[in-house]
Amino acid sequence: MEKEVVWQDLLRARYGNIRLKVLIGDVSILSKKESHWWRDLIVSDNYEKLLFDHFTSAIKCNVGNGFSTPLWFASWAGQKSIMELFPNLFSLAGNFLDSINLAGAFVEGVWNWNLASWFEEGSIAAELAADLLQNASYSCVAALEATEAGLAAADSGAGTASVPTQQLAAELQSLLAALNTVRIKENVEDSFSWAKDSSGSFTVKSCYEFFKKFLSGPPLESDKVKALNFLWKFKVPPKILCFAWRFLLNRLATRDQLVRRGVLEEGIDSRCALCGSGEESLSHLFFLCNVSVHIWRRVFMWLDLSGLLSFEEFGDFFYNFRKIPCLNKCMIVGTVWLATVWSIWLKRNAVIFEKEAFSFTECMSDIVLSSWRWLCAFHKRVNLCNFYLWNTLPLLCFER
Ligand SMILES: [Zn+2]
Repeated sequence: MEKEVVWQDLLRARYGNIRLKVLIGDVSILSKKESHWWRDLIVSDNYEKLLFDHFTSAIKCNVGNGFSTPLWFASWAGQKSIMELFPNLFSLAGNFLDSINLAGAFVEGVWNWNLASWFEEGSIAAELAADLLQNASYSCVAALEATEAGLAAADSGAGTASVPTQQLAAELQSLLAALNTVRIKENVEDSFSWAKDSSGSFTVKSCYEFFKKFLSGPPLESDKVKALNFLWKFKVPPKILCFAWRFLLNRLATRDQLVRRGVLEEGIDSRCALCGSGEESLSHLFFLCNVSVHIWRRVFMWLDLSGLLSFEEFGDFFYNFRKIPCLNKCMIVGTVWLATVWSIWLKRNAVIFEKEAFSFTECMSDIVLSSWRWLCAFHKRVNLCNFYLWNTLPLLCFER
């Protein structure tokens, strides 16, 4: 329990409104200050499908006062969300972003559902719901009879003609039965647990296993799979691996991608921040841009790679690593390649977000220094290669 509360607080502090962002996935509240992870996740083509088809059933909502639990989108009165259980009623929902606390009220300490308030005012569902609650002690048929005269004409009207009144009444009856299994507790906060692990605590493994079966896409080409598998052999900080993984899948938040996914508005300046010409795509930013080509050339010369790889092959290192027969050299070249793309990305971010000017010298220093640090950490012995030797003859370093 303690764990869940801490994680909720952490998520809330980092990402703000969990109800709207995580449980509802409301794209309209995303601002430009959001983390790239959230924006990428929520605007991705897969998110809506994953969220509504699967994710809501993976989160168990333990309803307290109902303030944090979405009324329609969360699974709190059964194994599925109310939206999934009663799609016809959902189509007539009033404010579908409401949370449970707005769906009724406490009267002298006793919770009363105000079912009519769930639906658009004046809609058939609202009227049926009002009658149903008034006649709660009667059967659904009695409630129907009470409203039949007033609603008969509406059945043939536009908008709701597709859902017969009787079906709506039956759904309302089932909904009310489901609601009666839930107790709203005035002084208890809602809590959430992870339904896909018996402990109730979230684990990445159970989440991965759960979603893996729903994520379908075209299979990756075999050389891309080999490149990604080789990437995981590098002992560099996890954020660098994660960055490179996204790089190899063309999933970086370059400006062309942000425009395509609707995060940046169409027509907004999407030019490359380094050279000021050409749209900022992954291939432009890292390989075609004059500024980064200059960096790659210097790195290529520093590594003295000409006997092992061509300049172009070095740019596509993770597709050409087998051309370097010596594993030690291969790991050095790969680590420097990772440092190069990472440094170019950081410099690009500093130009855009910190308004800094691009410095060729600084970028080169970062590449040389961070790759040396990562390799020293990997070999666990700094004295295997002093920085002077690294600076001058890098491929002769780190030999055991
Ligand atoms: Zn450029």
